[in-house]
Amino acid sequence: MAEEKKVEKKKVIKPYKPATKFCPRCGARLADHKDRLTCGNCKYMELKKK
Ligand SMILES: [Zn+2]
Repeated sequence: MAEEKKVEKKKVIKPYKPATKFCPRCGARLADHKDRLTCGNCKYMELKKK
């Protein structure tokens, strides 16, 4: 069970997703959420436009 969880965590990284944006404040890569992008570094948040 413990090993399965490790594999799951690795899947969080999706290198094939090209649309990732970068934080305008600190330059870190923004985390891609369903309706928003967030910066884990400085807590910047940007809502996605549809
Ligand atoms: Zn940032």
